[in-house]
Amino acid sequence: LTMPINQAISAVAQLQTGLAAFGRIEEVLRLPAERSAPEGPTGAMPDRAAIRFERVSFSYDRRPVLSDVSFAVPAGGLTAVIGPSGAGKSTVLALIERFYEPDSGTIRIDGVPVDRMTTGRLRGRLGYVEQSAPVLAGTIRENLLLAAPHAGGLRLASVLERVGLAEVVARAPQGLDTPVGDNGVRLSGGERQRLAIARALLTDAPIMLMDEPTSNLDARNEAALRDAIAEVARDRTVLVVAHRLSTVVDADRIVLLDRGRVAAAGHHHELVASSPLYREMLRRQLLLPSGVG
Ligand code: ATP
Repeated sequence: LTMPINQAISAVAQLQTGLAAFGRIEEVLRLPAERSAPEGPTGAMPDRAAIRFERVSFSYDRRPVLSDVSFAVPAGGLTAVIGPSGAGKSTVLALIERFYEPDSGTIRIDGVPVDRMTTGRLRGRLGYVEQSAPVLAGTIRENLLLAAPHAGGLRLASVLERVGLAEVVARAPQGLDTPVGDNGVRLSGGERQRLAIARALLTDAPIMLMDEPTSNLDARNEAALRDAIAEVARDRTVLVVAHRLSTVVDADRIVLLDRGRVAAAGHHHELVASSPLYREMLRRQLLLPSGVG
């Protein structure tokens, strides 16, 4: 009996999340459209870019994955890379980090081609929060100090506050010195990701790359994650591979990938107006009334 009951509870939770998001989208759709024209795949780029892809193509073992991809990530604020599964989103992050080299084209960070930067310089510019957000054995404090071994208690408290984990730590029996895991504080997937964001915040990297978790988060954890990402984007450049449309709708800029190409780029309003694929993605996540588009 427990399985169907659990499934029903989870379906209701998902429906609630969907309905809440639906209200937000309706709100956003009512805002006046921006005046600037949607930027096409090879359209004009903003001047101040933290990251720029210039006609980048890439294949894994001769199988093309990205084809002639150009887009810019403006310095400061939140840029979301979205698209169907297999579109090449994670590959974009891997190329920025130079895990692979493009077959052709150039990737620039602050105007400098990444292949001309030393690994040290590149790592100093980039923080990375991966999807699985590994939490290591040890205490909360030890998990944070990995990023900044000399950070004091006040600094740790401040980043925990910024990602909405201050309460979790306050409730833990030994505060910051509580072990993470079965014999201490158990963290949900969303909390682990926020701990990883806190860790990345402790580095001084001005550009943050994030792979959002695909796992289902409950509405509270989803809101907390969205707030943590927005908080980081207040004073850094954030490029997030986004699976949650709540993150997408809040982004300053969206890059929509489809089968290795940039299908559309711009703000949410622009994509709603110009991209059938974007409208389809919104609709699939229950976020757009079927009459629109
Ligand atoms: P998802 O949303 O499912 O994570 P994605 O848009 O992030 O997808 P990528 O992970 O970038 O897509 O993968 C793009 C394509 O490249 C997919 O077809 C994938 O199977 C393939 N691919 C990814 N990593 C590798 C690899 N290391 N070796 C070979 N092929 C790969």
